[in-house]
Amino acid sequence: MEEKHIMVKCCRCRRVRLQDRWADEAEEPAGSPLYSHSYCPACSEQVHAELRSCSVVAAC
Ligand SMILES: [Zn+2]
Repeated sequence: MEEKHIMVKCCRCRRVRLQDRWADEAEEPAGSPLYSHSYCPACSEQVHAELRSCSVVAAC
């Protein structure tokens, strides 16, 4: 069975995770078949802060 490569993309700032870092969307390799939406570390912190203050309901 062919192994599918899953790109992890931040649904907040749209950066994509490459090997060991979060890269700008422009650096994203072409033709990535699958996405898993998540938050990069920076956005994750912001989102959690917002959730703590109950000002935003995050729908990803
Ligand atoms: Zn982000």
